[in-house]
Amino acid sequence: MAPLPLVRRLALIGQNFEGAVFTTSLGIEDQLLTWAIAGGARNIRIITLQTGRLFPQTLELIRDTGRRFDLEIEEVEPLALDVERYVERYGLDGFYDSVEARKACCQARKVAPLKRALQGAGAWVTGLRSGQSGYRSRVEFAQWDEKFSLVKLNPLADFSRSAILELVEKNRVPVNPLHARNYPSIGCEPCTRAIRPGEDERAGRWWWEKNQNQECGLHEPAEAVAATISGRAVSPGA
Ligand code: SF4
Repeated sequence: MAPLPLVRRLALIGQNFEGAVFTTSLGIEDQLLTWAIAGGARNIRIITLQTGRLFPQTLELIRDTGRRFDLEIEEVEPLALDVERYVERYGLDGFYDSVEARKACCQARKVAPLKRALQGAGAWVTGLRSGQSGYRSRVEFAQWDEKFSLVKLNPLADFSRSAILELVEKNRVPVNPLHARNYPSIGCEPCTRAIRPGEDERAGRWWWEKNQNQECGLHEPAEAVAATISGRAVSPGA
């Protein structure tokens, strides 16, 4: 069976999951999904976590992308009180000192705001790919997410990085200029560095932590609930 094109995948999600929410980090995978949503699933709500520590290039891309596709990217902010408490206890950049401090920062600036944003959502759409890292190798097209009690849909689960790049170029999707400076995965500015040749795509995230999984707590291992949508298998090359 022929692969299902990406725009069609998103259209099926929009039709079958009322109240679906897509969370974008403005990374290259997420930009491709935003393009696909603009093309066939404009009922999917798009949000981004405005942690307050993003790169200036990412902030500019939020504005440019909204304008280019004529859609709204909602910026979800942490509670001021949560940030104040974090800074009081650990210091503004306390995340460098321990894994506990780093996780507490991600909890305040990312996980808690996301939890609020996903309340009442019909599904959670992400740009996760199984090839991004060893930790993400079990990413499936559809999974049950215990943490947020939601179906999590990963329409790029089976895409390779080269397939993403090809579609981005072909469709002139705007991307973060940091990608061209060896930042394949981009998060908060103080917690992201460029990678070196041969390193994992996510090796630049929280690089000072040894033997960690380079995740912020948003994406935990989840149980697969389906590998097809509307009876059609999805496969790379779309
Ligand atoms: S990535 Fe860094 S700055 Fe951003 S929320 Fe996590 S620890 Fe804090």
